[in-house]
Amino acid sequence: DMTLNIVGGGLAGSEAAWQAAEAGCRVVLHEMRPAVGTFAHRTGDFAEMVCSNSFRSDDDEQNAVGLLHWEMRAAGGLIMEMAARHRLPAGGALAVDRDAFSAAITERLRAHPRIETVAAEIKELPRDGHWIIATGPLTSGALAEAIRAETGAEALAFFDAIAPIVYADTIDMSVAWEQSRYDKGETEAEQRAYINCPMTRDDYEAFVDALLAADKTEFHEGETAGYFDGCLPIEVMAERGRETLRHGPMKPRGLTNAHAPEVKPHAVVQLRRDNALGTLYNIVGFQTKMKYGAQAEVFRMIPGLSEAKFARLGGIHRNTFLNSPTLLDEQMRLKSRPNIRFAGQITGVEGYVESAAMGLLAARLSVAEITGRSLPPVPPTTATGALVTHITGGADAKTFQPMNVNFGLFPPVSGLKSGRRGRTDRYRAYTDRAKVDWQAWLAATAAAPVPA
Ligand code: FAD
Repeated sequence: DMTLNIVGGGLAGSEAAWQAAEAGCRVVLHEMRPAVGTFAHRTGDFAEMVCSNSFRSDDDEQNAVGLLHWEMRAAGGLIMEMAARHRLPAGGALAVDRDAFSAAITERLRAHPRIETVAAEIKELPRDGHWIIATGPLTSGALAEAIRAETGAEALAFFDAIAPIVYADTIDMSVAWEQSRYDKGETEAEQRAYINCPMTRDDYEAFVDALLAADKTEFHEGETAGYFDGCLPIEVMAERGRETLRHGPMKPRGLTNAHAPEVKPHAVVQLRRDNALGTLYNIVGFQTKMKYGAQAEVFRMIPGLSEAKFARLGGIHRNTFLNSPTLLDEQMRLKSRPNIRFAGQITGVEGYVESAAMGLLAARLSVAEITGRSLPPVPPTTATGALVTHITGGADAKTFQPMNVNFGLFPPVSGLKSGRRGRTDRYRAYTDRAKVDWQAWLAATAAAPVPA
């Protein structure tokens, strides 16, 4: 059967349908809206943007999300084509007229001779045929239950609890030090998987005050219904008592300040290595509903993080996502049911652009499979490749949380200055390398031989 079935006509499913149909495949796109809704969607259109109307930075030389735009354009992406057509002035950001954007995508997909759209909720994991499931952060309850039954309860989350992630090279190691609590870990690398930031009593008291005073966002109406299982934001812990954090995620026990072994810290903030490359660290236990502006300010009060740059800030949202590092193979297939690929936000990427990019990739991999071609692996030096490599292998499965695209996911370019001063050159080197490698991959994809 040469048909590709796609479940979910969101950012990922719409791009996937377009890519596969343009490559010559017959596509059936199953979308439950408007008959079955979610708390965030308002319409029955494809590729509805549920919140902001921005695809973020369009800078393809200094910004990883801008690079992802570039890669999708180079691959003939529908989301980017329609975003350009319905663009609104927004400085360096790619913002769109959301209604016109979604309407145009809906029209394009419905008019495509190889795409059939079906208004239906899929409630089971299909046994036969080629499928991409791209049902997003608000996957319907029935399908989520079916996925859970297949993957195990631990492997499908209904909320994300994202601790802020810091670029390793912006941590001041003359203040912080590497050590795991009680030096736990079999190997030296494990014993050094944590970076610790010491606090005096004054630092701690000022920090608690700042947490309590910071601006917070509220959950959306209906967002927590029947799901939220109590992963407490850091500021809520602080509200429970001034000592709570010092006995919780900020406890100083089992740690010795390498810069001043004789001084016992009053509290310690721990950062845990977040990727295999060692370029990203998350602040342990610091999931938060603080507003982004407040977060950067408050977290830079932590000794050792005064100059920190954040690859992503913290958050807690309703978000259905898989533990992709354990469940998916490098081709985005469910290991236990390889006739099913996952794409979009449900794979543990975060954001419209990242989701669309994973839809684009999943479709190209599916088409290759359906037509019996074998593709070279997606280069991890590209934004698309860095993301898929992260979610299917680079990220630590035990602490896996959704990820935005960022340069911390890219293999370093050797021979360049690290730290703040080299940043412009470094980012330019990443984006130059990515463009060359992405073009080469697209060309190889187009040229991949069809078996006789
Ligand atoms: P979606 O775009 O959600 O598409 C999934 C589709 O699958 C939907 O159309 C849904 O109706 C359909 N579906 C679900 N279950 C079934 C089923 N069983 N059968 C058939 N169809 C089904 N990202 C940003 O970049 N910026 C933001 O400002 C932003 N704000 C957000 C606010 C909220 C409240 C939420 C929940 C998410 C937000 N996101 C934001 C994340 C955003 O949802 C994703 O980035 C993006 O929409 C994900 O694309 P997707 O295709 O994976 O999922």
